[in-house]
Amino acid sequence: MALLAVLTLSATAVAVRARQSGVTAATIHPLTTAVGSAAGGWAPSFTDATGQPARWDPCVAIHYVLATAGAPASARADVNGALQRLTAASGLNFVDDGPTSELPRRERAAYDPRRWGKRWAPLLIAWAGAADTDVPLTGGREGVTMAVAVATATGGSIVTGEVVLNTDLPLPSGFGPGATAGEVLLHELGHAVGLGHVDDPDQIMYPMTNPGLAEYGAGDRAGLVAIGAPAGCHRAPTPRPLQVSEPIG
Ligand SMILES: [Zn+2]
Repeated sequence: MALLAVLTLSATAVAVRARQSGVTAATIHPLTTAVGSAAGGWAPSFTDATGQPARWDPCVAIHYVLATAGAPASARADVNGALQRLTAASGLNFVDDGPTSELPRRERAAYDPRRWGKRWAPLLIAWAGAADTDVPLTGGREGVTMAVAVATATGGSIVTGEVVLNTDLPLPSGFGPGATAGEVLLHELGHAVGLGHVDDPDQIMYPMTNPGLAEYGAGDRAGLVAIGAPAGCHRAPTPRPLQVSEPIG
């Protein structure tokens, strides 16, 4: 299959460690970024010591904010289209908390009560160029995702994240054939909900864009079922300050 080699989709996974005490070491399963095979056509972004994927709580809506500065006029429509596809495949529900002036950054606080109240920071979906952010957008990356996963006694919980689309490498709007903003959003949002890369070019989670329509493939869908509503509720830990490590991979 011909690949659009210059249109690399990349994700930066961020492992986190709780800073405060109150959780004993015995109840913490270390989270690692998943490596290796993509059994069943998909791979998780993070796994705990038992091999379970880190995931959001599908029984609670995922709040997101849109950083619209620098975004194309089609940004909101593309986000809506991507989230509709993601919800249809995963059962995860999303709530738009509106526009934000916040810029993406590597050390964004997962818990920022002065800005967001006493909750985990909402998922930030942003359009930015390399000059706007320290999130790594070099190397031809169309998009970067930094998901924050917290280790808990019942497995890894993804509690917030950042999806950044690179405005230095603009793409056509929509979900048509070839590289599109819609395809990059489906890929990066896949990372944000817990999917990692696979080596099958027919899947959206392949690390490069492909010539086909921007739709989740069978492997992507299997992964979205495994981390989505069919997997049951997965209560998030109490919001608290976190020390976020350097990006991995
Ligand atoms: Zn990726």
